[in-house]
Amino acid sequence: VEIRVGLSTLLGLDDKPADLPGLGPTTAQVARNLIARQHRAEWRYAILDPTGYAHATGLLRARPSRPDPDQADGGLVELHLAATDLHALTASDHPDWTAVLQALTRAQNADPDPSRQQPTARYAGTRLRRHLHITHRHCTMPTCRRPATACDADHLHQHARGGPTTETNLHPACPTDHALHTRGGWTVHRNKNGTITWTSPLGRHHTRDQPPVAEPLPDPQPRHHTERGPDPPPQ
Ligand SMILES: [Zn+2]
Repeated sequence: VEIRVGLSTLLGLDDKPADLPGLGPTTAQVARNLIARQHRAEWRYAILDPTGYAHATGLLRARPSRPDPDQADGGLVELHLAATDLHALTASDHPDWTAVLQALTRAQNADPDPSRQQPTARYAGTRLRRHLHITHRHCTMPTCRRPATACDADHLHQHARGGPTTETNLHPACPTDHALHTRGGWTVHRNKNGTITWTSPLGRHHTRDQPPVAEPLPDPQPRHHTERGPDPPPQ
């Protein structure tokens, strides 16, 4: 199973629904039970900015320390967390999650730039492709439903003409739409907000909305932060 869920939900700090791509939303409790059996799945993280867009993504090898003995095979777990979450979390409050929290903190303090590979390389590496999958989700042609995982990493400025292999010069395009770009006379460019605009040979523009990776969180503060002290006395 593939599941996208907030770290704070798994830690029991909130009860936001999780997403099962292709199936729909599910409750926090179902998500926690599923995750406990998904320790063999591939785990990815997406560190989100305040608007819900991913500014860092990567592979997570650490797991919580008490797995369900009944483990499922395969699967994909995508953990979402706000950039500010990790500072507010205390590992001692979540002993089973210590290794995961330490790994995420290391990832956040390390270099979060997903495009840190040779920009002159012909092809995007695993890390860069994973980042494109998480930030775009689908082929960027607006009418296309192909998931980004089934797409090519297409260069906006063609590699053969000096276009770099970087996050901002790549987008996911399925083989059909990729061919429209390379041989069909379509042009493709990236807007300032990160969306991709396709322009047909007749000059018509098509832009796909790019929803945030997760809905913006009104208050990502963990629960214990509300226990700071007594309310000030009434005036
Ligand atoms: Zn497509």
